[in-house]
Parts: sequence; structure tokens; C-alpha cells
Amino acid sequence: MAITVVGSVAYDSIETPAGRRERCLGGAATYFSLAASFFCDVRVIAVVGEDFGPEQEAVFKKRNVDTRGIEHTAGKSFFWEGSYLENLNEAKTHNTELNVFAAFNPQLPDVYRDSEFLFLANIDPVLQRRVREQMPDVKLVAGDTMNYWINDHRPALLEVLKGLDILLINDTETRVLGANKNLVKAAQAVMAMGPRILVVKHGEYGATLFHHSGPKGKSAEHTFRAPALPLEEVVDPTGAGDSFAGGFFGYLASQKELTPGSFRRAMFYGSTMGSFACEQFGTERLQQLSRAEIDERFNLFRELTHLD
Ligand code: AMP
Repeated sequence: MAITVVGSVAYDSIETPAGRRERCLGGAATYFSLAASFFCDVRVIAVVGEDFGPEQEAVFKKRNVDTRGIEHTAGKSFFWEGSYLENLNEAKTHNTELNVFAAFNPQLPDVYRDSEFLFLANIDPVLQRRVREQMPDVKLVAGDTMNYWINDHRPALLEVLKGLDILLINDTETRVLGANKNLVKAAQAVMAMGPRILVVKHGEYGATLFHHSGPKGKSAEHTFRAPALPLEEVVDPTGAGDSFAGGFFGYLASQKELTPGSFRRAMFYGSTMGSFACEQFGTERLQQLSRAEIDERFNLFRELTHLD
């Protein structure tokens, strides 16, 4: 099974209580790909500038991620600068430079066409939609977005939401997008926009899955909450959400059949991958991770929540 993902491949400058790092490899598609690569084949669509070289390419190659859909062009790669000095659960954005993404027209490589799963990672909704339109027959489509697009690019985002099965966003984004302070009501409003499954991420407090199969605008039939692992030190939360999405969607893509139980386990694999992402700056921890460590942490989550 293979997931095609479109999203930012970027350089990030990050400041957290644990320190500061300049221009580390990041981007929503990068974190997602590395996390999902432990579960299934991953193929990336993105654009990078001349500052992206063999060293960065090797990070993807080492995890067997297909980079044939990463276009190399003149200019600088996407750049994001953020800090978490006041709140580790929410990044404060200081600078966003789209750079080569500003003129990007994503093309689906022929070798990606048989992907059964599509993930629209955080990027301009116009680009997300162009990729979605090139893959009309995929089995399952999930996506992510952020306040920047919710506030300033809402009409384009609403078009994307119509084509999603699953949306993963954080609780503030859910409340803003659903225009309601109450999370359940906001979730209902968001699900009425398209996705039948909504995963709301609560940072260090875990994540909630709302699942809908009946008429839109009514309450979700199934609600499930997975915790986050209580960590002694959160070094850098950047990419935790994308890594959660990679674990969640990667696990779903690895399953022959999707049952309510698969979605519950996917929530735990999401939390597992999100917890690893926080342990070191940038993608460092994901780059060194092994499948055995993932299985061990998944079991830790079981113990954390098991009643009898
Ligand atoms: P997360 O912490 O999981 O929400 O995602 C962090 C990643 O999102 C960073 O690596 C950034 O490069 C990337 N990012 C930040 N702002 C944007 C944006 N406006 N569009 C796309 N990616 C972004």
C-alpha cells in the first residue's frame, strides 16, 4: 500500500525552552513522510530550491521515501520560523516565506498514480486541491491545515474540505474553522463541511476522533480519545502534529480492512509518532527511530490507558 503526500518541505528556525536551531530540515510533508514510512510506502510531491541538496535528500532516501515527485527549481525552499517559549502546545509563527512554493504547480508523477491513499499535508489549499483533482479514485483522502489558511484562504480551504474523508487539525483550529467555542459543536460544524472523520489534536493532552457515517451536521456517532505520552522533557514540538498524522494514516494504509478498531489503533500509533517527534529538535528523532522502539512505545500507551 502506498500513500502519496503533498505538503511543505522546508527549512525551519525554531526556538523552544530547550534551545534554538537555525534552518533545520522540516516541513509538514517531511515529518509526515518520515513517520508514515514505518508503516507503508510513501511518495512525496513538493518543491524545493537550490538550498536543498544531497544531504537533505538522503534523509528521505534512508527511510525509503519516494522523492521523484519533489521538483527542484531555482530559488529558496519554503522557510518557517517559530517559537514555543510561552506555550509548548502552540507555535508562535514569526516568519513564513513561501519562496519556491509561491509559483508551484504540483504534477502527479505517473509512477505515483496507483497510490490508494492520499494525504494533503499543510500547504496552500489551492495546491492541495490540484493534487486531489489529479487523484479522483483514491481509496481514502486525509488532510491537514492551519490557522494561516483557515483565516486568510477560507474559500479555497472549503473546496478542499469537500473532497476529504479525514481531517486532522488542532483544537484551536477546530474552534476557529467551526466558528464555535464548544469543541463538540465546532467539530459538528467542521464535519458538515466535508470530512466524515475529524481528528482533533490537543497537543500534550492527546487527540479526539469524531466519526460520522450518518447525515451531516448531526453529532458524531463514535467519539474516541487517545492520550499523549506524558514526557519528562518536550525538546521541540515542531512536527508533532504531522508525525501524528503520519503514524495515524500510515497505520490505516497498512491495514487490509478498516474497522472501528483500526481507527482506534491508528490514534495510538499517531500519538506514538507524535511523542517521538518532540524528543529532539526537528526531524532528528524520527531519523534515528527503529520499528522496535515504535512497538515498545505503542505497548506503553496500552498500559497507560488499560483499565483491567
Ligand atoms: P506541526 O508542528 O506539525 O503543526 O508542523 C510544523 C511544520 O509545518 C514545520 O516544519 C513548518 O515548516 C510547517 N509549516 C509552518 N507553517 C506552514 C504553512 N503556512 N504552510 C505549510 N507548512 C507550514
